[in-house]
Amino acid sequence: MSKDVKKEYTNGEITVVWQSAKCQHAAECVRGLGSVFNTRKRPWINVEGANGEDVINTVAKCPSGALTMKTDI
Ligand code: SF4
Repeated sequence: MSKDVKKEYTNGEITVVWQSAKCQHAAECVRGLGSVFNTRKRPWINVEGANGEDVINTVAKCPSGALTMKTDI
């Protein structure tokens, strides 16, 4: 993966934004919600893997600020 990418993953309602430069690979997200955040999969974030509330709560736990939310509604 290249050094400084900003990627967006959406389910049509909510969008998770991930900034690689900020990610500390603390894996807080992977451990917290593996059905959405799975580094073995591509794309590694599947917003449709859990309900929106769980996704939002997990994004909020990201210690580095690499994960943020954008709501489309
Ligand atoms: S919780 Fe945040 S810092 Fe940790 S791996 Fe996920 S995106 Fe990266």
